[in-house]
Amino acid sequence: MNNQTALDLLKDIIAVDSIDGKEKAVVDILEAPLKAAGFECEQVIFANDPSRTQLIATLNGQEEGPVFGFSGHTDVVPVGAVKWNTEPFTATEIDGKLYGRGACDMKAGLAAQVAAAVQIAEEKVPFKGQIKLLISAAEELGLLGAGELTEAGYADDLDALVIGEPTDVQITTAHKGVFWLRLKTFGQTAHSSTPEKGINAIDHLVLAIQAIQSKLDIDVVDPVVGPSTMSLNHIGGGNGNNVVPDNADALFDIRTIGGQDTEALYNHAKEILDELAATVDNFQYELTVEADVKAVSTDMESNLVGAAKSALTNNDREVSFFAFSGGTDASQFTKAGDYPIIIIGPGEMSMAHQPNEYVDVQDFYDMIQINKEIALEFLNK
Ligand SMILES: [Zn+2]
Repeated sequence: MNNQTALDLLKDIIAVDSIDGKEKAVVDILEAPLKAAGFECEQVIFANDPSRTQLIATLNGQEEGPVFGFSGHTDVVPVGAVKWNTEPFTATEIDGKLYGRGACDMKAGLAAQVAAAVQIAEEKVPFKGQIKLLISAAEELGLLGAGELTEAGYADDLDALVIGEPTDVQITTAHKGVFWLRLKTFGQTAHSSTPEKGINAIDHLVLAIQAIQSKLDIDVVDPVVGPSTMSLNHIGGGNGNNVVPDNADALFDIRTIGGQDTEALYNHAKEILDELAATVDNFQYELTVEADVKAVSTDMESNLVGAAKSALTNNDREVSFFAFSGGTDASQFTKAGDYPIIIIGPGEMSMAHQPNEYVDVQDFYDMIQINKEIALEFLNK
């Protein structure tokens, strides 16, 4: 597979409108060259829907050794209401840029991984261990495909993983996690002309919010992604303005950093609320976790980061680090164990989910070579 056939492969997968669905059509296209190059391929059905498969493809080296993973997702976000200058599902090359939905996020990153893997196989480059691709479905709406793969154990043997999301060919070693806590308080209705006969759930919610905001310990900072944060983003409750409210709720959005234990965070919040219950009459609450997406953090001194740095240098690319603001499938795959994960791919994150999304064709070509070198240096070290 040379650069031109890799670009054709990318164009073929952009032509599939895999908007939260139809991932199998993308997987079928990617599987063909991998199989032809000698990879063992297994399509794993996502969410019991045969039109949505994920792909596990493996190739063993000449000797025993570590397992090196590549991962990317096949789904894309909808096109949106703004009219594009080109057909979103027809990859169009203009002045060195390839336009199309998913060109940036992240079919170019995915095709660059597949092309790198195919080239290593075709060129019979000697390596130790195994190269393993984990191609996921349903990433955009909650990292669901990678969640199923991780649950099923497909990530258990990984010793390193590169996720090809768009970072403009820079290295990302960490991103935050998302932890949502819903707090409900309960009271008793009464006519609001005699509030003393009721229990005001909103009054209790206000007390609870103040206690959480002043006492919950989120005072930790990651050198790459910065501090853990908490934002109160929703408040609701009440039954009308002449009734003492018997229910109220609030939703906290906590952004976590690597190493922050969300279970401990939940327990601490409960402790704070239990203390309140001991001092406030008739205080009743419920605290539930609405989202728990793991933060990702990889040691800058790890072999994987080292391999990525030298691959960039070898290809005359600046070694720089990118602070990724969104989430990635890494939040799922990291649950399988303590191994290094980095994110690196072609395309600028600012282009993702935008109309007239594109990837720079030269960056795509460079990324194929960089992927090859990262894998080989990691495995052969
Ligand atoms: Zn993406």
